[in-house]
Amino acid sequence: MSYRTAASVLIGTGTLALSVTLIPAASASAPAPHQRAALATTTLYYDDSQAAEFKSAVVAGANSWNANVTNVRLVEATAGQRANIKIIAFDGWPQSTLGPVRPGGSAGTVWFGREAVDEGYNTIRIAAHELGHSLGLPDNKPGPCSSLMSGSTGGVSCTNATPNASERAAVERNYASSAAERLASGLVVDAP
Ligand SMILES: [Zn+2]
Repeated sequence: MSYRTAASVLIGTGTLALSVTLIPAASASAPAPHQRAALATTTLYYDDSQAAEFKSAVVAGANSWNANVTNVRLVEATAGQRANIKIIAFDGWPQSTLGPVRPGGSAGTVWFGREAVDEGYNTIRIAAHELGHSLGLPDNKPGPCSSLMSGSTGGVSCTNATPNASERAAVERNYASSAAERLASGLVVDAP
């Protein structure tokens, strides 16, 4: 993005223009945390129209991420809307393309495998785990039930669908870069 383009983008919005005026006053210090969070959020749309009987589990798994991280938000796509993540029910073991999925990049896919459900694994934990892959987290196997990314090694009786502190931090880092880019644009505009 050129300086001129960045300037025209920022001047167009009152909120961002305000943050620009705050930057010289704050000088070397970073913008306040709540400003960072407001600028940082990346929205990813997921298509659960092919998730069959797992649709509600997918929504619950996505909401678990939404309740635990701030830099990225998972929103159910409306009919016909371009989705960043597709959820497809099938008869094998669950699997997912490894992200982090980006709004402008290729779509990720989660295959919601019935084989794990038939073995007794919790469907919401499966959904949150597979969406964790979409958000760029690798498996953490073997691992305890307290780890979302321990997957099946957490045990069949494990119903934990909440990412632990390190998993939350890793996702926040994965989606902090777009915030950094946007903040960098703001700082460029502020230069004389
Ligand atoms: Zn996995």
